[in-house]
Amino acid sequence: MNVLIIGAGAAGNVVAKKCAMNRDIFKSIHLASRTLSKCEKIKNECKRFLNEDIEIHQLDADNVAETVVLIKKVKPDLVINMALPYQDLAIMDACLETKVNYMDTANYEPIDEAKFEYHWQWAYQDKFKKAGIVAILGCGFDPGQTNIYCAYAQKNLFDEIHEIDIIDCNAGNHGQAFATNFNPEINLREVTQCGKYWENGKWIETGPLEFRKMIDYPEVGEKASYLLYHEELESLVQNIKGLKRIRFWMTFGDEYIKHMEVLQNVGMTRIDPVIHNGVEIVPIQFLKTLLPEPSSLAENYTGKTSIGCIMTGVKGGKKKTILIYNVCDHAQTHKEVQAQAVSYTTGVPPVTGAIMLAKGFWGKEPGVWNVEQLDPDPFMAEVAKQGLPWHVKELKEGLGELTERRKDKKAA
Ligand code: NDP
Repeated sequence: MNVLIIGAGAAGNVVAKKCAMNRDIFKSIHLASRTLSKCEKIKNECKRFLNEDIEIHQLDADNVAETVVLIKKVKPDLVINMALPYQDLAIMDACLETKVNYMDTANYEPIDEAKFEYHWQWAYQDKFKKAGIVAILGCGFDPGQTNIYCAYAQKNLFDEIHEIDIIDCNAGNHGQAFATNFNPEINLREVTQCGKYWENGKWIETGPLEFRKMIDYPEVGEKASYLLYHEELESLVQNIKGLKRIRFWMTFGDEYIKHMEVLQNVGMTRIDPVIHNGVEIVPIQFLKTLLPEPSSLAENYTGKTSIGCIMTGVKGGKKKTILIYNVCDHAQTHKEVQAQAVSYTTGVPPVTGAIMLAKGFWGKEPGVWNVEQLDPDPFMAEVAKQGLPWHVKELKEGLGELTERRKDKKAA
């Protein structure tokens, strides 16, 4: 397979290096990004640490014509979009024009509205079918691996799944007062908006981080976790049969919440333009410039991520609850690919998905697919070999009802 990776950020670094570690599959590896020096750094590290060479290119992926020219030049079998959600539709358009398969890890988001929904990308279904190519959406960890845990459980462990709680914990320490583990702009847009979960056929909105729960994470222990809206909920509601409730939880430390709330209160997370000294600026974009790049956190990062899905359902008439999860160590991922564990857990699944396409397990039917619509079994076998081993644990019960409410955070 020839692969073109777009986006040389924290997660793009992992994708490029993991492809280089699978040379039997990826014959030629191209990395393109807005800032060429970031591609150069990754190319140099591939040479230095892996003794592998990759090709690099400067590209503004918002410009469809420019992307089409690059695709025609490098002739990839697959484009992996590791840039930002803003570029999804432009890169999908370029893939359609050149009839090349597409994959990403985050759904489209308009830059002027913090609203991540699949309908913009699902609207490409007929066009991709007609062109005879696939678009594989949301193939990171969450979304991505978490959707595949659900698909695997639906296929192999349950007759019907009734409740899912996706639990995402980063118990690492990067030593910074405030930093985000993936792109700061995208991260803060996600965390500051209202929460939402799905129950008995209805979406229920909550205030931002309104509900809190202590959750016991494997290898990490009990951590305060907050209910958020996360994009995989939208597709899982459609693709897991018999589902009655699905929620998403993420851990945040008190320091992170304190900083985030202050930034929000003073208007630094605003996504609309304001005039500053006669110049138009978008506060959240300025804030991104000030904050550490997620890729810069990797060195000296300690601790682990622990992410998985708690699922309750029935098998053979009996109720059961299981947790499928992965634990990933920041120091180990830094040693392997000079990345922290959040970038690593984001970057390994798209490489595994690309291997699924190369080996013909996925991509048999053209169209636009969320990963849980594809065969989970070969992916689960491969992803463990690629660095994200997974485990299944029987639990006595699920997470239960929402209890601890932060009253000042009530939905408007
Ligand atoms: P970074 O900010 O570290 O990297 C993004 C990269 O994309 C940067 O190198 C940036 O270039 C490049 N880029 C931005 N705009 C363009 C453009 N118009 N043309 C070409 N390149 C561009 O972010 P991360 O690596 O942390 O995240 C990458 C993606 O992964 C995001 O979409 C994020 O939402 C997603 N993600 C998914 C997760 C999952 O589990 N599913 C988890 C974490 C992240 P420049 O350096 O010039 O700014």
